[in-house]
Amino acid sequence: MESEIIQIKTDRVEKTRIHEVDFNNIPFGREFSDHMFMADYKNGKWCDFRIEQYRPIEYKPAMLGLHYGQTIFEGMKAYRNIDGEIMMFRPTDNFERLNRSAIRMCMPTIPVDLMMEALRELIRIDSEWVPKDTESALYIRPFMFATDEFLGVKPSETYRCIMFTGPVGPYYKTPLKVMVEEHYTRAPKGGTGSAKAGGNYGGALYPTKLAQEKGYHQILWTDSFEHKYIEESGTMNVMFQIGETLVTPPTGDTILQGITRDSVLRLATDMGIAVEERRISIDEIKLEHGRGQLNDAFGVGTAATIAPIELIGYRGEDMVLPSIDGRVLSKKIADGLKAIRYGEVADPYGWMVSMN
Ligand SMILES: *Cc1c(COP(=O)(O)O)cnc(C)c1O
Repeated sequence: MESEIIQIKTDRVEKTRIHEVDFNNIPFGREFSDHMFMADYKNGKWCDFRIEQYRPIEYKPAMLGLHYGQTIFEGMKAYRNIDGEIMMFRPTDNFERLNRSAIRMCMPTIPVDLMMEALRELIRIDSEWVPKDTESALYIRPFMFATDEFLGVKPSETYRCIMFTGPVGPYYKTPLKVMVEEHYTRAPKGGTGSAKAGGNYGGALYPTKLAQEKGYHQILWTDSFEHKYIEESGTMNVMFQIGETLVTPPTGDTILQGITRDSVLRLATDMGIAVEERRISIDEIKLEHGRGQLNDAFGVGTAATIAPIELIGYRGEDMVLPSIDGRVLSKKIADGLKAIRYGEVADPYGWMVSMN
């Protein structure tokens, strides 16, 4: 197939809102840059590529996506490196995952090249919104939803893809208290857990609220069959340091293929740390904790990068982990990743993509 030249129609705002933002104290997910990218899918193809003001959009109440959950999203970040250049971290992996989510939800895929070009243009126009310190970044939210005005339960024939951005500061400020969940399930085998599909997150809110009422921040999800094996923590992949070994459950149907997870495993391996991808039972965690071998536990994902877990609640008892200050391994990996992202060291992996 011949590749078509992508025309993105751009309509810039007359007046920026950037002066309303306090870049020294950016709340997560509440500040949005001036512009957004939009594209529509109709008659079997993507069209009407445009960048315009970030603003309300209007839909009819019968819009399919609002009723039956054909909605997917991605989350990624742009960093301003120490030379002032704007860099993305593995952006094509996110767009490829968006397409895997699309396939699972019976939605159309969107060319990675198109999304990369749109992202480049969007970041070029809103470049001032990329924070200038090495604790912050520009969060990017691509998403897609069904737009047919129809109430039958069937795949929509029309869709919209939007990508907007917003500056973010450091994510989790406090170490996490997580609770092992033995009743509710995030993702059953054969379900949609490997897709970033809206319903997965909506379904997790209620059990998370119950855990929060008991004093925890997040749930440590277990498998849907036996509630015995650890899967993810909240909306992050999860890793443990048992003895000197870094252990994490393998991705699949029920565990999302995190890009941070993949990067951490790669970095750890190259740092000479022993890495194991295998199932981890809560019994094993309990045993190793009792033997003093559970040295570290943390969530990994784009928003937080590495979120240390300070305690794990299981059947009413709390397993307290070693103090956060003494966590050598996860700190070394977090620092290594940060140094690559902000250009403090060379990137030997080809992960960083210049947006200039
Ligand atoms: C997005 C997400 C992650 C982390 O993925 P990254 O690519 O590292 O951001 C992990 N688990 C779930 C359920 C997620 O939605």
